[in-house]
Amino acid sequence: MTGRSPSGESTPPTVLKFGGTSVEDAAAFERVTEIVRAERRARPVVVVSAMSGVTDALLASVDAASAADLPPHFERHRVVARCLLDAAAAARFEAELEAAREEIGRLLERASQGGGTLPRLRDEVVSFGERLSSSLLAGVLAARDLPASWVDARRCIVTNDVAGRADPDFPETCARARAQLSPLLAAGRIPVLGGFIGASAGGVTTTLGRGGSDYSAALLGAALDAEEIQIWTDVSGVLTADPRVVRNAHTIPTLSYAEASELAYFGAKVLHPKSIQPALVRGIPVRIVNSRAPQDSGTVVAAEAELWPGTVKSIAHKTGITVLQITSARMLGAYGFLRALFEVFDRHRMPVDVVTTSEVSLSLTVEDGAALPAVVAELETLGEVRVEPRRAIICVVGEGLRTTPGIAARVFETIRDINVSLISQGASRVNLTFVVDEGQAREAVTRLHAALLEGPAGRPDRRTAVRGRGGRSRSAGPPVRPSARPTAVELTRRLIDIPSVSGDEEAVARFLGGQLEQLGYGVEYLESAPGRPGLFATTDAAPRIVFCTHLDTVPPFFASSEDDEFVYGRGACDAKGIIAAQIAAAHRLRAEGIRELALLFVVDEEKGSIGARAANGHPAARQCRWLVVGEPTENKLATGSKGSLRVLLRTDGTGGHSAYPERGRSAIHTLLDVLADVRAIAWPTAPEFGETTCNIGIIGGGAGANVIAPDARAELHIRLVTDAAPVRALLEGAVRGRARIEYLSATPPVRLTAVPGFDTCVVGFTTDVPHLSNWGAPLLVGPGSIHDAHTAGERIAKADLERGVELYVQLARSLHADAVATEVRA
Ligand code: ADP
Ligand code: ASP
Ligand code: MG
Repeated sequence: MTGRSPSGESTPPTVLKFGGTSVEDAAAFERVTEIVRAERRARPVVVVSAMSGVTDALLASVDAASAADLPPHFERHRVVARCLLDAAAAARFEAELEAAREEIGRLLERASQGGGTLPRLRDEVVSFGERLSSSLLAGVLAARDLPASWVDARRCIVTNDVAGRADPDFPETCARARAQLSPLLAAGRIPVLGGFIGASAGGVTTTLGRGGSDYSAALLGAALDAEEIQIWTDVSGVLTADPRVVRNAHTIPTLSYAEASELAYFGAKVLHPKSIQPALVRGIPVRIVNSRAPQDSGTVVAAEAELWPGTVKSIAHKTGITVLQITSARMLGAYGFLRALFEVFDRHRMPVDVVTTSEVSLSLTVEDGAALPAVVAELETLGEVRVEPRRAIICVVGEGLRTTPGIAARVFETIRDINVSLISQGASRVNLTFVVDEGQAREAVTRLHAALLEGPAGRPDRRTAVRGRGGRSRSAGPPVRPSARPTAVELTRRLIDIPSVSGDEEAVARFLGGQLEQLGYGVEYLESAPGRPGLFATTDAAPRIVFCTHLDTVPPFFASSEDDEFVYGRGACDAKGIIAAQIAAAHRLRAEGIRELALLFVVDEEKGSIGARAANGHPAARQCRWLVVGEPTENKLATGSKGSLRVLLRTDGTGGHSAYPERGRSAIHTLLDVLADVRAIAWPTAPEFGETTCNIGIIGGGAGANVIAPDARAELHIRLVTDAAPVRALLEGAVRGRARIEYLSATPPVRLTAVPGFDTCVVGFTTDVPHLSNWGAPLLVGPGSIHDAHTAGERIAKADLERGVELYVQLARSLHADAVATEVRA
């Protein structure tokens, strides 16, 4: 949150809107109370929906002209009051409830006798949902020592008198809302209002349409020029698809106003379609957050939002759609035809969603409803009308859609066997919209989500600042709780999802740099090769203990996922989980007052270690006493790591027709003989490191199955437990001149620093340690198993990750206390 003075009058308030599920029972009311308390300094104005299910029940009671199904809902209110209010307050609320019950009874009686206009009665009856929930919430907040004041929303929201979906009079609403609420805010009170309801200038109760409490919150936010409008609901923000359809849907951290409007309009129920406009007009950020998981970072909707690599951010869909195709009777010119046609929809107040035209006909979509037959009958006077019921609209949304080539092709290729009947792109810069049969909507959305939003492209690639009010910059990260620092598991997943196969480390380095700056480190980018920065993050103290690992991974990239036990994805254990563990450990150590710490993350460990070599020349290296290198050692402190010798063997032959082998000499046959002899070598062993091993990793050569092979080659990777010299002698003795030997690289085995009290091991793999010789005594330890590294199922156990953090903390503590027993360098 941006800084605010505690209760200065000039500080703008924050609107907190709680949906029906956020006040479904006593436990939910308690959660709301704690959220309001946490936001107290933000000068909250609370807007609340009816308890979940109540609006539906009240509407049904009007249709049935009977209150028979309402008692259980009254009872739910009573239970909350009895649980959370003191006896006197509960009795007052029960009296209010009784009065409501009687009034609803009278209204339903009139409805059954045909008295009054039914739509008006309906609004009057349904308004009790929000009137009761808001009064109850005001009581609950007051009972928990929050200075809440109930305000009748009908005195603030002024509308026209269209029953069922009234339109607000914004200037009048601004004036009334300020007059009602500003004095309360100035007195340090917390106004609590029902959403969804308002009143016409003549004082008749109206409603803003289903889901309209979001709209109420936005109108009040705009009227009060709020700092922020928070929509508290039952999901952690706007997701990449409707979670009831797509299980893997994930939170979108930031959306532009345009993106959010399109999503809401085309079916993302989490936001009322009209709720964006008032926020946009005043430039107020809208934050969508989960009242059951307030610590989750939700979604921020603001003027600017990050672009995603794959452009598409979310897929909305809306069922219950009818397509109408009207072919002009040709008696009217094109203008006359269109005007007459839209007048029909206007008269019936029927919104049209998607429109496409040809010279003589026009197709459009409307929502199913009672007015449809009358509309169709009128349209038939203008031309031939074809009605296609049971359709669904699907809407793919992302800033940049119009300017990014290839998206439409990808979309329609993904659902090529599903019939698409109407397509619209370009009407807005952010969406591609089309119509399918209702029965195929779920399948289409699921497939599109898998294709567009479940890979690396379906995630944000950089956390850009979202511009909030007046050009002030807000972070796109989790802002609701100041303590919402990502956990090691969360950070591991975020890091995995930014691909960084060796050579392509820049995006992950920049992301991590931003994170570390937020944590208060000074961050230096180490330019190891063009576009391949490493990172060095320091505190204000000299770096005596440096946690170090690498940013790059082996190919191929695959995105993160998790279950109860593991986080999966490329780099999970090698080494992105380790980065997260080192950062978490450093954070804890700093909190304990150990500040002589730094973090060094290098590129290219998986290839030629150019990052480590470059870092070795850094002036801070000499200040460092202990370099704690992270690699997956199953949380054991490695006392040694084997060296490596990479070798290329080449053989030459004489080509010829394979039917006459005696006329040529096969390079492949020679190579196979040589390799057989290499495999028979008795390599040296060393007590502290174990055995030398030799892997024949690649063999190749030849020109065709019917050609005597003119050349052949093999690549070997030998793990050294001694110097390279005796191994080279053994190799050359076995090859006996039959192949040319090229030594590609050689790294000797390394002895590492041991610290008493930690489990130890010897590792077979090589690391950056030999290239970081200037950085003090090396230690090697990290969570995760080398047996999972480089595999298609790379993963790290969550428990190991946590243990890793603990281990790094303990290690640094004992190093800091200068308790190192042995310090031997190879
Ligand atoms: P509230 O009662 O808090 O206003 P709603 O039921 O109106 O909540 O909206 C939240 C619901 O919207 C979610 O539970 C979810 O099922 C649905 N929903 C549909 N599409 C999306 C989406 N893209 N992102 C998040 N939620 C969505
Ligand atoms: N209670 C109303 C509804 O269910 C308004 C809302 O919850 O936003 O539609
Ligand atoms: Mg809603």
